[in-house]
Formats: sequence, structure tokens, C-alpha cells
Amino acid sequence: KTGADLDYLEGLNPQQRAAVENTKGPVMIVAGAGSGKTRVITYRVAHLIQTGTDPFNILVLTFTNKASKDMRERIGKVVGAEAKNIWMGTFHSVFAKILRVEAEKIGYPSNFTIYDTDDSKSVLRAILKEMQLDDKLYAVNFVFGRISSAKNNLISWGEYQANDQIQAEDIQNKRPLIGQIYEQYAKRCFRAGAMDFDDLLFKTNILLKEHTDVLNKYQQKFRYLMVDEYQDTNFSQYTIVKKLAAAYQNICVVGDDAQSIYAFRGANIQNILNFERDYPDLKVYKLEQNYRSTQNIVDAASSIIANNKNQLEKNVFSENAEGDRIKVARAFTDNEEGKLVAESIIQERTTKGYKHSDFAILYRTNAQSRAMEEGLRKLNIPYKIYGGQSFYQRKEIKDLIAYFRLTFNPKDEEAIKRVINYPKRGIGDTSIDKIIVAADQNNVTMWDVISNAHQYVDGRLANQLNDFSMMVQSFQAEAKKLDAYDSALFIAQHAGILKELYTDDSVEGRARYENIQELLNGIKEFAEREDIEEKGLDIFMQDVALLTNDDKDGDKNKDTVSLMTIHSAKGLEFKNVFIVGLEENLFPSQMSVNSRSDLEEERRLFYVAITRAEIKLTITYATSRYRWGTLTNCEPSRFINEINPRFLELEVKPAKSNMIEGSFDDERKTWTSQPRDFFSKPKPASTSSAPPPRPKTTSLLAKAHVPTPGFAPSQPHEFQGGMEVEHEKFGFGKIISLEGALPDVKATVFFQGLGNKQLLLKFAKLMIV
Ligand code: ATP
Ligand code: MG
Repeated sequence: KTGADLDYLEGLNPQQRAAVENTKGPVMIVAGAGSGKTRVITYRVAHLIQTGTDPFNILVLTFTNKASKDMRERIGKVVGAEAKNIWMGTFHSVFAKILRVEAEKIGYPSNFTIYDTDDSKSVLRAILKEMQLDDKLYAVNFVFGRISSAKNNLISWGEYQANDQIQAEDIQNKRPLIGQIYEQYAKRCFRAGAMDFDDLLFKTNILLKEHTDVLNKYQQKFRYLMVDEYQDTNFSQYTIVKKLAAAYQNICVVGDDAQSIYAFRGANIQNILNFERDYPDLKVYKLEQNYRSTQNIVDAASSIIANNKNQLEKNVFSENAEGDRIKVARAFTDNEEGKLVAESIIQERTTKGYKHSDFAILYRTNAQSRAMEEGLRKLNIPYKIYGGQSFYQRKEIKDLIAYFRLTFNPKDEEAIKRVINYPKRGIGDTSIDKIIVAADQNNVTMWDVISNAHQYVDGRLANQLNDFSMMVQSFQAEAKKLDAYDSALFIAQHAGILKELYTDDSVEGRARYENIQELLNGIKEFAEREDIEEKGLDIFMQDVALLTNDDKDGDKNKDTVSLMTIHSAKGLEFKNVFIVGLEENLFPSQMSVNSRSDLEEERRLFYVAITRAEIKLTITYATSRYRWGTLTNCEPSRFINEINPRFLELEVKPAKSNMIEGSFDDERKTWTSQPRDFFSKPKPASTSSAPPPRPKTTSLLAKAHVPTPGFAPSQPHEFQGGMEVEHEKFGFGKIISLEGALPDVKATVFFQGLGNKQLLLKFAKLMIV
């Protein structure tokens, strides 16, 4: 290659460049956020191809589909069309693809179904019912979590039952039967020709372990392996990578232990530490310069993560501008928090000329998006929510897809249960139970019963099942002849779904019909693609279970504000970032505050959030919000206190926008809000305990209330909605609305910690503050 072909190497600092050019042997980079780890992988792949490696021999594993798409695009800019031949994707999507080819070796049909979490839980619920177990004790989520973590630690149901330590744990948890449930669950998925998400990795491990020829084949194929976000791999993923890399050892992993945020899903920091042990020839590169963020943001992030005891030591610095301080803004309620964020987006945009897509709003839990959406909608700010309920999780979409699933894998029992009586064809729950019983008694699948109905059930039901089975067989016949779109349309029409939704002219019915159209449009696009040869519906279906909203291309060019959980923001960057809901029991979450390791994981999550910001970071919290249906009193998060106050903006903004920036305690030299009780559960507003002493702050809406000296009630005619007021007993509040005529005006006032109170103004002794 000529020098000109390698121009891209100029965009790397010496350490990055060394890691890019050193393509042989094991390489590890553990470095802080924004230091160019992902950039190194991207350039390394480009460099491999530019220096003659066949892209078919390169495997890159990323954490999201979107990340791999972005990376492929960037590599394409250097290497051109060859980029599409790189094996690149998430662990799940790459190994699902390999399992499609190899499934028969481990007893699965190549058109196995991928059960999503809903399917898995539905299987579990059926098992719990049959085993007559108390579903409060054996809560589905708990059981599913146990089975999932067993699989991610490569423990089969047999090993689970035989493992004394696991058995002792389950007995101690008073749930001794999890091993049996696991067995039933595994057998049932197998019978249905289905793998759940964890199986995609678990079964890959079995495949590579039991079939050396297959292992050899993929070792030869993937001569170069790269893994981004390595800190979040679990044991099952670690083992796959280790096996595949064993022949050539050309493996490069990058990650940041401070950003490990999936321990709850079995991610294991040990994988980073093991790497050195596994590869004695390992080359380790250090990246210390952060190119993403201002100095203030980088330093604030470091001051936060310094509170964690367990971390690998690293230095990070930024040569970017010092930048604005981090702004901390307080809102009165979650709705006002949404309003405040929306207003500041407008202000930043108009004064600094940003695009909407330069802004991201990050939250700890999906539920927080509601208040944000409301705020944005009111000001007509376009936005897109990432993650959350996926398009593919909608009922109508799942219904139609269940018909597709059945067409290619009629053993798929969850699909059968879903659509055998939708649209209604007189095969109700009793009939379905009869099918299940017949299947169990004869040790055959539900489909065997349905497709030979007269052998197993009698009369009317047999006829109905026969009709259903003929219909599915007609789908199978058509799908063999037609392309993806025509097959899908045929199925949607003949299954009766289109008609069912078309005749429902409620608003929801129409929306559902439109969603089905959108799915069909997506399938049409697929069928018209020129870069693929096979365009059958079976190909479209292959990893539809792994798709999320974020993978839908439709609005990729729209200029929108991004809303997402911090978990899904990993690896991304935005010029302006808002981290909202910085409150005790929300962030850090209530579940995390009682153990150091959980709390440290929350802190790493906060570190991830902070380090997404390039130029401006705003942190907000509300002093009350609706949670679990009750108005709950909130304390500012301890994490705010942990940021070195040097990096915070402390000036107090005019009260009218409710942006009170907190206050600086001269004695403690920390940014402070109110006295906090970290370990208390969130209390419903109405049962608020006795107020603690009023803090020495300038805050306008202090939680504690001691009446202002010389408290003098104002006159009823002076009040207006939105005013901030003080009540002798209830403390500070805000008038939400006024009703009635003088002198009997009734006010609804929101009091912090107490919620809304209705007061007759003439008696209420309210003072305007
Ligand atoms: P994270 O830990 O958040 O995943 P990262 O270490 O993967 O971060 P990148 O996303 O690769 O970091 O890089 C952060 C930003 O810095 C990107 O915009 C990238 O293009 C830019 N960057 C990295 N290295 C350089 C460099 N040598 N010169 C200019 N820009 C760089
Ligand atoms: Mg990255």
C-alpha cells in the first residue's frame, strides 16, 4: 500500500497508533472514557484491510447493533465496499448467525425460533402453574434471573441440580425447586425448537466444545478478533472469545473497568483481569488523553469515580478547553424538571446555534422519560426515545410475527399459543389446555397434535385444529415460492389479521393497523435490497427477535433530541447532556444503597453518564415526583455531593424558573442541599416525618420549615396561580390553582413533602414569599 492509503493513521496519537499497527498477538487497552478505544478498534480494522487482510477473516464484537453499524460506516470510508464483508455485530447477533448454520449439530432445526424475554417468561409461567408452585415465592423474574445467570456461567440444568453449593443457596432462599424448573424450561424450549437470548451464547459454547471440527472452522475463519466494551462481557462470552482466539491469538480487547455497568447481567470484571493470565505475551497500551470532553467534565468524572474503592488505576486528562462548569438545577416536581430541561434546550439552541441532535437527556429508569417527553412536546422540540418499549414488542407486531414464526418453525409453542385463537376461531383456553395435555401424554409437540388432530382430540375441536393446520401449511407452501414481502402479505391477509385490525376503527385499532403496515413496509424494503441474494421471509425473520427500535432506520436523518437510559448511552457522545433525576433512591437506585458493590456499580453508571458530554453538562433533580402512583418526596442524590465543587456552577438563578443551583457550604466546603437520610425508603408525601431543622441555605423551597420571623399572612386577593407561598404549618409551597370567587377562594397548593393541599384562603394564613 502507498503512503496515501494510510493517511488515516495521522488521526491517532502515538499510543493509539501503536495499538492499531500492532495487529499480531494479544492486545489489551483498559483506559478511561473518551480516550479513543473505539476509535482504535475502528482504525485497526481499517488498517488490517488496507494492509491486505481479507475482511471475511475479521470478527468485531460490539455492545449494540447501532455501534457496529456506525463502525462499519466509518471503516467503509477508508476501505470502501469491502467493509460490508467484515463479521461485525453484537455477541447475540453474530452467534445467532453461526448457530443458524450449525444448529443441526446440536439437535436444533436451523430455523430455530429465538424466544424473547416475554416468551421465556410465558414458558416459565406455564411451568410454575403445572408444578403448582406459588408464583409469589417463585416469582417469574426471580426464577428467570437464576436460570439466566446459570446459563451465563455455563451451568446446565444437570450441573445446576448436582451442584451442592447452588442447591444450598436455593434452599436457603426457600426456593429449592429452581433446578427442576430450569430442567423443564430447557426441555420445553428444546421441544419447541427455540433458544432464548442466553441460549444463543450458551449453545454456542456447547457447539464449540463438543464439535472440534466446528471450532477449528471458526478459528480459521476469524483470524483477527476484536471486542469493544470488554468490561461488560460475561463468562459465557469470555469463553467463546477465548476459544475462538486460541489458534491465532490475534485478539484485541478494549474496555474501561470504571464503565462496567452490567454486573446485574453477569458481566464480570474478572474477565479483564483474567486476560493477562490467559495471554502471557499480552501487549498493553495506555490511553490517557480524553478527546471527547472539556477539562471540567473530565475532572468532575474523575472526582466521582475516585469514590469507588475497587478500580484499576488510570490517569486521564483533556487538552480541550476548560469549559463551563457543570450546572446543577433543582426542579420542584418531575414535570417541572421536564419543563426546565426543555427550556434550557431552547435557550442553548437559540444562543449557540446547536442542532437538536446535539442534545441528549439521560435517565436512570425508563419511567422518567414521560416527564421529559411532556416538557419537550409542550415546546415543540422533536425527540426520539431510544430503547424502551420496542416497536417489535407491540402486541400487533408480535402477533403477526408469531404467524411468521409458525410458518418456519411450527413446533414453536409460544407462537402457537399466541395466535391459535387470534383472530378468534373458537379455540379457547380450554381447547388449548386439551392440546397441551394431549401433547404431554403422548410425548409429542403441540404441533403434532394440531396437525394430526383426529388422532388426539375429538369432534369439533379436531376439525378446528385441522383448519388451523391447513392454514399454516398453506403459509409454508407460499413462503417457499414468494419473496419476503409477498409471503408476509399473504400471511397477514389469510390469517385474518389485516381484516381484524382494519375493521377496528377505534383510535388504537387504527394505530395498530398502521403499525402492521409499517412492519410490511420494512419487509418490502428488505425484499428490494440489492446487496443480498436470498430475500425470503425466513431470512428476514432470522434475527428479528434481536432487533430493537434503535435499529430501525426510518428516521435516521431527522434532527431530534435523544432520550435514553444511561445503560443505552454507553459508548455514545453528545455536545450537550442532561442527566436527570439525580435523587436518592432513584439514582443511586433504592436497590443499590445497601451494599458497597451495588452502590459502586451505580457510581460507575453515573461516571458513564457524565462522560457522554462533550461541551456542556447539566444535572437536574426534582424535590418530589410521582413514583409507584404516589407523590414521593425526594432528596438530592449523594452523587451530586461527591463531585468536587470546583467543577460545579453554584450561582443562584432567579427563582421564577425554579432553577436553584444548590448552595455551597463554606464550613464543609461541599456543595450541599439538605440533611439527608440515605437509607430510608422513599416516603409517600402524606406520611412525611417531622421536619428536620431548617438548613442554612439560600434555597427558596427548603424542605424543613420554621416560619419566617414576623410571619404575616397575605390577603386573599393578592394570590395568583404559580406563586410561591409560605404556610405557617405546612411550610413553603406553590399555588397550583385557584377556584371560586372572593371571599371564598379555594387554593390548591403544592407543599414540598406534603403534596397538594386544598386551602380556603380566608382561613389559610398564607404568605407570599
Ligand atoms: P468510551 O469509553 O466512552 O467508549 P472511547 O474510549 O471508546 O470512549 P472514542 O469514542 O473512541 O472513545 O473517542 C472519543 C472521541 O474522541 C471521539 O469523538 C473520537 O473521534 C475522538 N478521538 C479519539 N482519539 C482521537 C485523536 N487521536 N484525535 C482526534 N480525536 C480523537
Ligand atoms: Mg467506546
